[in-house]
Amino acid sequence: MAKFAYQPWEITEQGFSARDLRENESVFALANGFIGLRGNLEEGSAAGAETIQGSFLNGVFDSEPIVYGEKAYGYAKNHETICNVMDAKGIVPSADGERLDLGLSDVRAHRRVLDMRAGVLCRDFIWHTKSGAVLKIEMTRLVSLKRQELAAARFDCACLEGACTLTLMGGIRPAVIAEGDPNDPRNAAGKDRSLLVGRTAADGTLIAMEQKTKNSGFTICCAAQPRGLDAHTEATARETAWSAEKALHAGESLRLELSICYTASRFDEQPDRWEKTIALCRTAPDFDTLLDEQRAALDSFWNGVALDIQGDDALLQGLRFNLFHIYQSAGRDGRRNIAAKGLTGEGYEGHTFWDTEAYILPVFIHTDPALARKLLEYRYAILPNARARARELGHEKGALYAWRTIDGEECSAYFPAGTAQYHIDGDIAHAVWEYFDATEDLDFLAKYGAEILAETARLFYDLGFFSAAKGGQFVLNCVTGPDEYNVMVNNNVYTNCVAEENFRSAGVAMELLRLRCPTDYARLCAAIGFEPAEAEAWREAADKMYYPEPRDGIYPQDDDFLNRKPWPLDTIPQENHPLLIHYHGLTIYRHMVCKQADLILAMTQYGECWTLEEKKKNFAFYDSVTTHDSSLSMAVFSILANEIGEIQTGYDYFMSSARLDLDDMHHNTKDGLHMANMAGTWTGLVRGFGGMRCRNGQLSFAPVCPPQWQGYAFRVGYRGRTIHVSVSADGASYALIAGDPITILSHGESVELK
Ligand code: BGC
Repeated sequence: MAKFAYQPWEITEQGFSARDLRENESVFALANGFIGLRGNLEEGSAAGAETIQGSFLNGVFDSEPIVYGEKAYGYAKNHETICNVMDAKGIVPSADGERLDLGLSDVRAHRRVLDMRAGVLCRDFIWHTKSGAVLKIEMTRLVSLKRQELAAARFDCACLEGACTLTLMGGIRPAVIAEGDPNDPRNAAGKDRSLLVGRTAADGTLIAMEQKTKNSGFTICCAAQPRGLDAHTEATARETAWSAEKALHAGESLRLELSICYTASRFDEQPDRWEKTIALCRTAPDFDTLLDEQRAALDSFWNGVALDIQGDDALLQGLRFNLFHIYQSAGRDGRRNIAAKGLTGEGYEGHTFWDTEAYILPVFIHTDPALARKLLEYRYAILPNARARARELGHEKGALYAWRTIDGEECSAYFPAGTAQYHIDGDIAHAVWEYFDATEDLDFLAKYGAEILAETARLFYDLGFFSAAKGGQFVLNCVTGPDEYNVMVNNNVYTNCVAEENFRSAGVAMELLRLRCPTDYARLCAAIGFEPAEAEAWREAADKMYYPEPRDGIYPQDDDFLNRKPWPLDTIPQENHPLLIHYHGLTIYRHMVCKQADLILAMTQYGECWTLEEKKKNFAFYDSVTTHDSSLSMAVFSILANEIGEIQTGYDYFMSSARLDLDDMHHNTKDGLHMANMAGTWTGLVRGFGGMRCRNGQLSFAPVCPPQWQGYAFRVGYRGRTIHVSVSADGASYALIAGDPITILSHGESVELK
């Protein structure tokens, strides 16, 4: 039986399973791009079941030196790990001294509901207390999408029978940090992640705590105020607590609201932060107001995506769940980004990867371009780090973005599958260009985009060379493509594709600025020493970009891919996946095996470079050598499968990715949700089944409807228009919701939308 009932707007946990506690803490996480709260039970755990407590602030991390056994020049120097900050969301009820514990108390009809339209996590149950009372308890929690520093909770209790004295207790406490897994590189382990406690305070109505990171120099303040009942507060040097009590008789009820406010010094230097945090908490709106604001924020988001599937509620639920979480987790201020696990867990230490540009940005570019711009501004903000890193790695010009980072510094301790992924520069450039194409936001291009494009193009130009051995073509050697099971290869096709596009887009962007924003152009030329001759060199490199020749119709993912030792997937025991935690890298790298979509990704992103027949043949081949050990893989395979007309395969891949976290298919949802895969499922629907492409300013669709669905719909923004697409077995219809008339292509035929 499915763990969650298939509901279009809710995720409901009926009853309670201690075994699923940690996964569900990720599933029920709430966030607003700054604060992230795991879906921990208000009272902590249940009968001592393992829990992963988590409260995070996007971009707030501690660092410590990476200890290498054999350190060499240019290795990443420091770990950066997102802080698990003080926890204030707990509300622990006790009835006549009996502390609520789902494992020990007589609790019936327990239910938790993540309401994706309201943006709240609700919980209710009936508690038969040992002292004979029957209590109906309802709790609601939110993290305000409108007010970045605020979270809030509400606790309601109605006494149905008997009588009791109900005590509620909470506090602000340093986080209890879960152990990572020392054998899984995806999981932070073996690092001291505790924070120092600075000040604490309790003034009778409100409590507050300050924490400091040990090495990165950040200060975090948190204040919490219980409202609606007379509370007692107290503070010790390390903890603060509040409690409130009320005698309840049958027919009586109580309500308590809890306001929580977090601030952090990173990007927000304020000498009086402590006082301001307390004041913000004290003046926080009441819960009903926050609820209204929350719904308004989500109404606007859901209206932008307008996603629907008719005939498959499980899928619809999965897709909306995915969108809800990426929306919650995305930084909104141009300086915070979106971590691989969002703000739902500590997997990948809160690092941002190419996941943002290659997977998540396409969603926001077409549904919430203002948010997309903010995420790209983050890349501009860390451009100085990328420049410095390029110099360190011996590149005379350009900028090399960190493979994984929070503040811009490279944190990848394993460079073959980390720093060597030069494609990240191309992914960022691709996203800048895609954003510009879809929005025509010249202001962005002038202020940020063109400079990013120029610096990444410079890096690729410095990295590669015109190779005599390849007939003077431009090659990029010793790079790792997206597929982390083939490292430090020559001419990874995907990397060469993004680099080629980067060379061209950088040149076009500079020319556009010269013509349309001469002042910005002059400023940029002076700032980065750009000369038009440079763009000519980029163009030449783009024109002469080398791609490995196909062998019997199969395009090698890199120069040597087809020379590696075959490793038929059906000979690998199922329990040995993912290979990366069961085999030495050398075993993996010498084999013809892929972790994730690489050439297939190139074929979806640069589809015009291959014929349909080539795509079909290569799909079949790469399908047979790809393990999909990365969650970033299946959505991409689904898109190409649809394009080549293999709708059933496309459907199967799509379905395996659409509910990956809801159904914990990778058995690591407990460490946080897989943001890139979640976003990839939107792309799987819109580009895969909907066939949406934007090429040279022409928006086109080629919708197909898998027989399992009655129909589906989505909405995309493009150049000031909002277009609603509805598809059924009978065909597709398009409606222009906003903006000027536009001509689109539907299966190659012009359709004018007015
Ligand atoms: C994938 C990368 C991805 C990272 C973070 C890895 O397993 O191979 O492509 O960026 O996870 O999601």
